[in-house]
Amino acid sequence: MKNLLAYNTFKINSTCDNLFEFYDIAGLKLLLTSYGSGVKVLGGGSNVLMMTSHFDTIFINRIKGIQILDENEDYCLVEVGAGENWHQFVMWAVYHNLGGLENLALIPGTVGAAPIQNIGAYGTEQQSSFVSLKALNRKGLFTTVFENAVCEFGYRDSVFKNELKDQFIITHVTYRFDKKPIANNSYKDVKEKLQSKNITHPSIKDIAETVIEIRSAKLPDPKVIGNAGSFFKNPVISKSAFENLVVNFPDMPHYLVDESFIKIPAAWLIDQSGLKGYRKGDTGTHINQALVIVNHGSATGEEIFDMAMHIQKVVFEKFKVTIEPEVNIW
Ligand SMILES: Cc1cc2nc3c(=O)[nH]c(=O)nc-3n(C[C@H](O)[C@H](O)[C@H](O)COP(=O)(O)OP(=O)(O)OC[C@H]3O[C@@H](n4cnc5c(N)ncnc54)[C@H](O)[C@@H]3O)c2cc1C
Repeated sequence: MKNLLAYNTFKINSTCDNLFEFYDIAGLKLLLTSYGSGVKVLGGGSNVLMMTSHFDTIFINRIKGIQILDENEDYCLVEVGAGENWHQFVMWAVYHNLGGLENLALIPGTVGAAPIQNIGAYGTEQQSSFVSLKALNRKGLFTTVFENAVCEFGYRDSVFKNELKDQFIITHVTYRFDKKPIANNSYKDVKEKLQSKNITHPSIKDIAETVIEIRSAKLPDPKVIGNAGSFFKNPVISKSAFENLVVNFPDMPHYLVDESFIKIPAAWLIDQSGLKGYRKGDTGTHINQALVIVNHGSATGEEIFDMAMHIQKVVFEKFKVTIEPEVNIW
C-alpha cells in the first residue's frame, strides 16, 4: 500500500494499492491494458482534493521533452511532454525570449493539466498560446489530436472537465510562442509592481519575474501549508442579478465579462461573510487569502470538503450567490 501525502499539495494522507509512473504513450497503453480505464491520473496533484481515503490504482504522468516543431522569424511552435513541470516550461520559454505564457509563471503542476482547467492568472489564460494537444483514449487506446477550437476553453473550464471528463489522458501539448513578444502588463498588480521598480518598457523576463515576486508574497506555499490554490471559482452572475445585489452591497467589486454577465471575486464574498482566516480543527481559510482553503496539519479530505461546503453555504445565505469549487474532488 502506497501513501499519497507526497503526491498532493493539500497534503492529504490517502493511500492506494498501486501507484505507477508512465514515461511515454507505449508505457501508458500497457498500464491501461493491465489496470483498466477507470484508474486515476495525477500530474503534480495541485488541483485535487482527495476525499476518498483509499484508491485502487493511480498513474502519474512523467512524459517529458520539449521539441520545436516549426518556427519562422515571427513565431515558434513547441510540443511539450504533458509530464513536464509547468513553471519550468514557462521559464524555458522566457529564457529563449518566446512570449505568451510568462504571466503564468509559478503556477504549480504539470503541462498536461494546464488545458484541463485552462489555467489563468495575471491577465492571461493558457488558451491564448495553446495550439493543440495529443491525448490517449482510455478505453480505445487510440491517440487523438484536439485543436484549440474543439477544447471549448472557458474560465477555468474545458471540454475535458465536461463531456470528455475522464475519457482521455493528455500526453503532449503544443503552444505557439511569439518571437517578437509584447509584454502584457495590463493586470493592475503587475503594472503597479513594475512601476515600483521603475520598469517602463518591460520585457517578458520582467513580467515573469514580477509575477513570481507577487505570487511568492501573496500565495501560501504548499511546501509550508497544504493547499490547492484558489478553492472556488469567481462566480459569474447575470447583470440583473448583480444590479439587485449591489443595492445592498454597494462596495461589491466586479468585472464585466460581457454585455450580459458580471464576475464577482469569490475571495471578497468569503471575506465579507466573516470567513477569512476562519479555522475549525486543522482546516480553514488562509489568514491572508480567503479563497485558499488550507490544511494546517492533519485535516482529512472529508474535513476539508466539509469546510468548503460550509463556506459555500454561508456565502449563499448572505449573498444568494453560489460559489463553485475549482478544485477536482476525488
Ligand atoms: C499554490 C497554488 C497556486 C495555484 N495558482 C493557480 C493559478 O494562478 N491559476 C490556475 O489556473 N490554477 C492555479 N492553481 C491550480 C493548479 O496549479 C493548476 O490547476 C494546475 O494546472 C494543476 O496541475 P497538476 O499537474 O498539479 O494537476 P493535478 O492536480 O495532478 O490534476 C488535476 C486534474 O487534472 C487531471 N489530470 C492531470 N494530468 C492529466 C493528464 N495528463 N491527462 C488527463 N487528466 C489529467 C487529474 O486527473 C485531475 O482531475 C494553483 C494551485 C496551487 C497549489
